[in-house]
Amino acid sequence: MAFKITDECSSCGACAAECPVNAISEGDGKYVIDADTCISCGACAGTCPVGAPVEE
Ligand code: SF4
Ligand code: SF4
Repeated sequence: MAFKITDECSSCGACAAECPVNAISEGDGKYVIDADTCISCGACAGTCPVGAPVEE
């Protein structure tokens, strides 16, 4: 299980600064999570102003 970022992302970058394992990077039009690195801590979801990170 890992988190993923939906199209709601506005590329503010707040989540990337909070991720303890640096799994989040800027992608094409939105930020993206490396599922192999994500430890599903939920910090990104708690930080995101638009609720874009969701657990899948
Ligand atoms: Fe990083 Fe945690 Fe979000 Fe996974 S759930 S991308 S480890 S902040
Ligand atoms: Fe996108 Fe939310 Fe991350 Fe900002 S905090 S870059 S809106 S997923």
